[in-house]
Amino acid sequence: MVLVTGGAGYIGSHTIVLLIEACYEVVIFDNFSNSSRESIYRVEKLVNQKIDLVEGDIRNGDDLQKVFDSYKIDSVIHFAGLKAVGESVEKPLKYYDNNVNGTRVLCEVMRENGCKSIVFSSSATVYGDPHTVPILENFPLSATNPYGRSKLFVEEILRDLYLSDNEWKIVLLRYFNPVGAHESGTIGEDPNGIPNNLMPFIAQTAVGKRESLSVFGDDYDTPDGTGVRDYIHVVDLADAHVKALDNINSFDEVMSINIGTGNGYSVLDMVKAFEEASLKKVPYVIAKRRAGDIASCYANPSYAKEVLGWEATHSIKEMCEDTWRWQSNNPNGY
Ligand code: NAD
Ligand code: UDP
Repeated sequence: MVLVTGGAGYIGSHTIVLLIEACYEVVIFDNFSNSSRESIYRVEKLVNQKIDLVEGDIRNGDDLQKVFDSYKIDSVIHFAGLKAVGESVEKPLKYYDNNVNGTRVLCEVMRENGCKSIVFSSSATVYGDPHTVPILENFPLSATNPYGRSKLFVEEILRDLYLSDNEWKIVLLRYFNPVGAHESGTIGEDPNGIPNNLMPFIAQTAVGKRESLSVFGDDYDTPDGTGVRDYIHVVDLADAHVKALDNINSFDEVMSINIGTGNGYSVLDMVKAFEEASLKKVPYVIAKRRAGDIASCYANPSYAKEVLGWEATHSIKEMCEDTWRWQSNNPNGY
């Protein structure tokens, strides 16, 4: 059985669908701090079965122990965490408590119960401002904000854990920019309030919830001056987790793996692709650079192909079409 922390969230919910389709048994553990039960009901409809759920907080060992008392857990996919960069600057202790301490408690409870297999949601943010692109896994690591540092610290903690006991099986998946939604249009990304990320902001502008997109800077050293990122379809990302679990027992070191497409698209590329997919206008204005943003960030994803047999298959067009289907069917989210 696979314990999926944060399984009610954006990436978790899509991963649950693919895990069940791949015949894994799953139990979700979530405190619903950034999600709702509705996402789980929708997933249940998609896979046509009930999904086990334990409500609790990863910082609470007693909550977690209940899961291990009720289920035989072989592996954990650990999505639970907070992810808003701006909020992490305002409230660093909240982020270190949730993301770092929460992971420490989770690993402690896993160890006590003899479960030593974990796939962790890391991020391309651990590369800081890379000296060159595309990014390889052995590039230097750094962070520019508390959210990024929380990911970096957890990576270090997991590496130390492995050094202390090499029975641990640990996969660090470094996601680039997850976007898109399940092709059914019934589950997707449902940010609270004004979206921080580009794709949900574009989608809400196209559907008429926002007046116009602010493009944060058009004077970067990129082909059109706007920031370049590696957008990856959330279903491809979910599939990387299935492949990570399929292979985890064959690894004899901590695996750090980029999960991206290898393609960089600019903000204006994304606006254009979204307009074509939605047949809606996405009005935009050029605004100042956002503090902490980098010009260009995209993966060299060849290691993922080599060690997981995984590569992204969804195009930018599909990412935009699927986001639009979710957004237009659910203008107010769940
Ligand atoms: P999300 O907020 O949609 O999902 C996270 C889930 O974890 C939510 O359901 C939330 O309620 C739950 N959660 C948070 N703190 C918890 C706690 N203390 N105890 C129990 N549950 C808790 O976010 P997401 O986009 O699905 O991201 C999943 C993971 O991937 C996060 O760790 C995030 O940092 C990482 N990540 C996300 C992105 C991205 O752009 N979405 C990029 C890189 C890495
Ligand atoms: N961006 C933008 N307007 C927005 C949100 C984002 O121009 O309202 C740009 C941002 O500067 C970056 C890209 O879109 O170049 C992706 O930003 P996002 O916050 O989605 O991801 P991240 O910065 O974490 O890669």
